Amino acid sequence: MAAGRFAPSPTGPLHIGSLYTALASFLDAHAEGLAWRLRFDDLDAPRNQPGAESRILRSLEVHGLQWDGPVERQSERLDLYQGALEALRRKAKTFHCTCSRKALAGSPIYPGHCRDQIAPIPNAAIRVRVDDTALEFTDLVQGHQRTRLDLTVGDFIIKRRDGPFAYQLATAVDDGDPSIVRVLRGQDLLANTPRQLHIMALLGLPAPTYAHIPVLLNRAGQKWSKQTGAPAVNDQRPLANLRVCLTLLGLQPPDLDLEPLVEWAKFHWRLSRVSNQNQRFDPPAS
Ligand code: GLU
Ligand code: ZN
Repeated sequence: MAAGRFAPSPTGPLHIGSLYTALASFLDAHAEGLAWRLRFDDLDAPRNQPGAESRILRSLEVHGLQWDGPVERQSERLDLYQGALEALRRKAKTFHCTCSRKALAGSPIYPGHCRDQIAPIPNAAIRVRVDDTALEFTDLVQGHQRTRLDLTVGDFIIKRRDGPFAYQLATAVDDGDPSIVRVLRGQDLLANTPRQLHIMALLGLPAPTYAHIPVLLNRAGQKWSKQTGAPAVNDQRPLANLRVCLTLLGLQPPDLDLEPLVEWAKFHWRLSRVSNQNQRFDPPAS
């Protein structure tokens, strides 16, 4: 069944910013008549936090955000990523990069030093080649986007030197699955989308429609995240949390219990009501 998806990294519990994105993605999928799938982006093993997955699942459930189908994990899809990597290699789109961090410091665009290193090299990163064509797509919130990867990032990493497949490759493969037709996520990820579209195009995978919604900022104007000290959502007060998120998403939630409120929100959700500006939000002390 055609679906949208929510793809948290199990690096910590949900905080208000990730609950807000989860809710928006859930409502958007339901409004479009899609299933809502849940996938853990868990390839960066050292960053995974024990217990985070089950805490995230519990928070979603407590807030009435029930996913469809089994919980998916990128760590269980390594064969697919390996297949994609081999397909890119067969198309002569990959090379092995042995540049040190120091050699690349100060250049946001990969300078292309290793472009001729086609044959495998141990302990090297693998990069995918980009070219000088413009990648274009229309984001449902941010409008028309046009990017030249050669002028913004250059050839980028799809498999890290320390082993794991990079987020760009895994996510392009997962979101390039024909069943995923809609990707709603935070605006902080917008700059990744052209890289993912590039991989999908090389692999002949269909691209979903994207909606990048604003992120919630703390008082200091930083994105709420684990790094900026976002507290875990309080599962004892799901109704209050949902009301906050719905209001931030441009809805005016009526006084209802949790389940009817979620039903109300599915019905009243309009992506067009979501602002395209990042918004500040200070959680009340709980
Ligand atoms: N797992 C990443 C995050 O939580 C990316 C998710 C995505 O592509 O939607 O920020
Ligand atoms: Zn290199």
